[in-house]
Amino acid sequence: MTPPVFRFAPSPNGYLHLGHAYSALLNFRRAQESGGRFLLRIEDIDQTRCRPEFEQAIEEDLAWLGIVWERPVRRQSEHLADYGAALNRLRALGLVYPSFESRAEIARLVAEREAHGGWLRDPDGAPLYPGSAGTLSEAQRAELIAGGQPYALRLDMAAAVGRAGRLSWDELGAGPSGETGGVDARPEAWGDVILARKETPTSYHLSVVIDDALQGVTEVVRGQDLFHATSVHRLLQALLGLPAPTYRHHQLIRDDRGQKLSKSSQATGLRALRAEGVSPAEIRHRIGLV
Ligand code: GLU
Repeated sequence: MTPPVFRFAPSPNGYLHLGHAYSALLNFRRAQESGGRFLLRIEDIDQTRCRPEFEQAIEEDLAWLGIVWERPVRRQSEHLADYGAALNRLRALGLVYPSFESRAEIARLVAEREAHGGWLRDPDGAPLYPGSAGTLSEAQRAELIAGGQPYALRLDMAAAVGRAGRLSWDELGAGPSGETGGVDARPEAWGDVILARKETPTSYHLSVVIDDALQGVTEVVRGQDLFHATSVHRLLQALLGLPAPTYRHHQLIRDDRGQKLSKSSQATGLRALRAEGVSPAEIRHRIGLV
């Protein structure tokens, strides 16, 4: 039997905190318990926010925690062609269209909709795409693109859901409302998500799905904040004919005030704790992984 494959997939846009330590240690532990493999993947497609020094710090902090991962490490910025190829397959299925509104224009459209009866928000609380770029003709699109207009490539959610049909995933952990076992995917709750931008031929949703498949990941262990995004991931897997891993969404580590940890909060950063003389064993104790 092929061994199960686990991965920890941080973005190098800041230093790791206790929440990352929890996720990485849980993945590593699951791999060890099951005789599985453990991979580290660097999710650095956002070149404006990711920095090599953060990547180096991630490796240092994980090694300090006693975590060992396979090499070479997959760095997403080195594989843009893989994501571009997947995007082209979705385009060929007629499921992708360019939208040209600026952020300000989108905010104005949302405000307008909200003033007239309300507007839907996605599970993260962001308004769904309010524009009508999906109805532009091919000639209009070509003209705007030729004119150098920036654009985002969006998934035509209604068409994509129509093509893929009903989907579910196997949840070994739990969602924020205790969802577990076979969970029905509801990708339509996200509207016409962005799959790529003019300057970046991919997005988080697209690259995570491609990489999990390319790396043969069998169990995705990650924070509950990504539970609802799994609906989009299942949809993309179905459209692209990729295998579905099982998912184990875990609780989030919170600060003393019950807030989700952020990369900018010093107090729970692994580097800062290490500098204060906190040991890896104390970190494990603090996050309940002894
Ligand atoms: N790169 C994502 C993050 O840092 C995690 C992606 C995932 O685990 O699916 O939040």
